[in-house]
Amino acid sequence: MKSTLYLKFLGGFVAFGILGFLIVTTFTSQRTYRYMEETAADELYREAKTIATSYAQNYYEDTITLADIQEHLAAIDVYLNAPIWIVDPQGELLINSRAQSPETAPVRIQDFSITSFGTRYYQIGTFYDTLTQESLTVYAPIIINYRVQGYVLIHKPMSQITRYSNGFINISYLSLALIFLCTLALLVVFTFAVYLPIRRITRSAKAYAAGNFDTKVKVHSNDELGYLAASFNYMASELHSLEDDQRKFIANVSHDFRSPLTSIKGYIEAIMDGTIPYEMQDKYLNIILMETERLNKLTQSMLELNKYGSHGAMLDVGPFDINNVIKMTVQSFEGTCTQKKISFELILTGETLFVNADMSKIQQVLYNLIDNAIKFSHADSTITIETTERNEKVFISVKDTGIGIPKDSLKKIWERFYKTDASRGKDKKGTGLGLAIVKEIIQAHNENINVISTEGVGTEFIFTLPLAEQ
Ligand code: ATP
Ligand code: MG
Repeated sequence: MKSTLYLKFLGGFVAFGILGFLIVTTFTSQRTYRYMEETAADELYREAKTIATSYAQNYYEDTITLADIQEHLAAIDVYLNAPIWIVDPQGELLINSRAQSPETAPVRIQDFSITSFGTRYYQIGTFYDTLTQESLTVYAPIIINYRVQGYVLIHKPMSQITRYSNGFINISYLSLALIFLCTLALLVVFTFAVYLPIRRITRSAKAYAAGNFDTKVKVHSNDELGYLAASFNYMASELHSLEDDQRKFIANVSHDFRSPLTSIKGYIEAIMDGTIPYEMQDKYLNIILMETERLNKLTQSMLELNKYGSHGAMLDVGPFDINNVIKMTVQSFEGTCTQKKISFELILTGETLFVNADMSKIQQVLYNLIDNAIKFSHADSTITIETTERNEKVFISVKDTGIGIPKDSLKKIWERFYKTDASRGKDKKGTGLGLAIVKEIIQAHNENINVISTEGVGTEFIFTLPLAEQ
């Protein structure tokens, strides 16, 4: 199951080898043998015909002596390496090119009949048992005055022909072996270039599935597999950081829930067992109420943030007067401001200024920003809220002259639960979720929010909204 792909390739490779071998042993060798046989027969037949129409004819017409023709045929025999006979139609051997050789043929061929050749001009065998080894025998008739006077017969030992074809077949085997070696090389290349990288990627994928993101895919080739491995590594790192974020988030949530719960529990126990006397109970009950409010706010903020997932929240977008919303929001802070002696300065463009957005969400943005500005401002200071219109956009700025944000915290203030050290001491009620919600809301509108701040001087938040058409 594990290495199926590799086994398939290996099986294919072996099948290829066996098939190639079978083809060479059957088809190739048979065809070569047949081809050699036919070529030899053709050549011998041409030779036999030449003899039948020249020397043999001369012999029958008595224009050449027996010794002369014998000499000529012996010479051709040496050249062809095949005995040449001339026989009469009854099988009487008239001339034998090897008359003196040990391979002497009988003077008369028993049961000789030319019909034994059938329709072909050659046959294979020991020719009426007159030859000591299997041979290819070719015949050509000697015709004088339209009558067959005899036949020229040439016998070529088959061992010579098979020797030739075996030579050719051996070359085929050698070629097959070379091709097989080349395929083997291909298989090796495939193993290193494709199979091993795929196995490495699969192994890493399994590790990721088991939650182990430390294993990196080590494939550095500059091809599709290399890109795949790089994508895998990227995916792993993303999953890893996602997991980290989640862990951090849960740690923050539990911490933020635990501290108020612990203090509530402690005060209630103290009230119940009488550690806190009756006259003092009011003070501690107020602290308990404050902590409960904080828990309530925390839960609400988290529910709010949850609405803006990866798909963004459903916005109820419509035109409304931002100047009016700013005035209304500022009014709701009047009580706190008179306490802290903080005043507002509103620099608003136009009587009314219509923007296209979700009014209740923008109200919440303004609320969170103004709430921060008041929290982190000194007494007797002014908070400036300004609206300006430029390039079909409305810029809304909330500016204070408070404690400011340290430079290295500027990027982190948008993170959930982030609070600067100063605010941890100053504002115990804060959850660190306010700006995260603000950012989500502005992003859901496809708009931008920015912060400019100098520690000890003040802070300005500026965000944009689309101008309503009218
Ligand atoms: P919550 O908004 O839930 O009451 P919070 O105000 O502490 O809590 P955020 O509104 O997200 O949380 O602000 C994050 C941190 O950014 C604050 O704790 C504070 O340290 C810093 N910060 C935000 N606004 C200002 C400001 N106007 N001046 C100085 N510091 C600020
Ligand atoms: Mg806040």
